[in-house]
Amino acid sequence: MSMKNNVVILGATGSIGLSTIDVIERNKDEYTIFALAAGTNVAKMTSLCVTHHPQYAVMHCERAAKQLKDALKHTSVKVLSGTQAMCDVAAHNNVNTVMSAIVGAAGLLPTLAAVEAGKKVLLANKESLVMSGQLFMDKVARHGATLLPIDSEHNAIYQCLPQAFQRNTDLGIHHQGISKILLTGSGGPFLTRDLATLPSVTVSEAVAHPNWSMGQKISVDSATMMNKGLEFIEAKWLFNCTAEDIEVVIHPQSMIHSMVQYKDGSVIAQMGQPDMRTPIAYGLAYPERIDAGVQPLDFSSIANFTFTKPDFERYPNLALAMDACKSGQAATTTINAANEIAVAAFLAQQIGFCDIYRVNAEVLAKSTLTSLNSVQEIMAQDAQARLLAKQCISELR
Ligand code: NAD
Ligand code: MG
Repeated sequence: MSMKNNVVILGATGSIGLSTIDVIERNKDEYTIFALAAGTNVAKMTSLCVTHHPQYAVMHCERAAKQLKDALKHTSVKVLSGTQAMCDVAAHNNVNTVMSAIVGAAGLLPTLAAVEAGKKVLLANKESLVMSGQLFMDKVARHGATLLPIDSEHNAIYQCLPQAFQRNTDLGIHHQGISKILLTGSGGPFLTRDLATLPSVTVSEAVAHPNWSMGQKISVDSATMMNKGLEFIEAKWLFNCTAEDIEVVIHPQSMIHSMVQYKDGSVIAQMGQPDMRTPIAYGLAYPERIDAGVQPLDFSSIANFTFTKPDFERYPNLALAMDACKSGQAATTTINAANEIAVAAFLAQQIGFCDIYRVNAEVLAKSTLTSLNSVQEIMAQDAQARLLAKQCISELR
């Protein structure tokens, strides 16, 4: 048995996937890439495979896999396609660690496969946890998986928690003397923009995040602050707390990545550059520390460090998601699905920026919300919400 840590990267060609590969490259003696999986970007996947020679490369569809197979015919990389193949590599016996960094609901089944195989799961794909909440967390416990949050805020919160609570959240945050979780967010590119001009913002304005470089979907979610709403739901599940225990704080500089407040008055914050390689390195090495290629903050050069409350008129999607969190699983699965369709329509210039909220709110209002007790029921709720969102979009156009 090799002593090296064998890693699978789901969503390898994306922003998080590439940052993960960067951190692994800096720590080659400890980590090996066992398999890479991605959607349809064959050119990027080809170059990653030629450079990092994983044992497996998995593409979303047959067509992309065929092109990749052709491009890699002189290598030993085994090329596969489809969701089941992604689940298989994520659950493979030789694998220790799975980076879950596919965007959206497409990440659910491969991530659950890694959980069910008891892997160390580095969770960037927040949508899968938002969709499946209780079921996801129950599987983590039942199969003895180690779940490490990669989303920078949740990684920060995790770092600020007592070790006993990191390992077992059963008794809840209050048992650990924690009084509140402070979830920070930058407010995105439209923090100070005149509200009257929001309906006409362009795609390129919406994806231009002031501090972070990320994939398109999460960039739009940051502009609407639906991202913070999804993170609010994500935090509830990860840290076994209620919506009342979580407070959203706007911190435009993105240097504090989140905080934990204790009942004695202490507040512990995690700080660093807005660079995802820090949480990725933390997850890979936990409980040790490795080089991430990230410089520490230079406090002498920080001019401003500010905090405000979120304005729900500016960010109605945040309020919608927080309400859904209180309402329950069916509501959170529904807004997650509606939002994926609405953001895709915005990116395709079929609807305006403010229509994203209209679609999300209308789909939630029209949906039947019953308890979801299996992956099948979750997927059915997700499919129903997507259908309603598409109807709503065609009416708006
Ligand atoms: P991205 O768009 O840059 O990359 C997405 C990856 O998923 C790509 O590799 C793409 O090929 C793959 N993919 C898309 N559809 C797929 C499918 N059907 N099957 C298999 N693979 C598919 O996105 P990103 O910014 O890297 O974000 C990935 C996830 O991490 C998202 O859930 C996001 O919310 C989360 N996240 C990202 C950041 C960040 O800084 N980028 C921070 C926190 C959380
Ligand atoms: Mg985040």
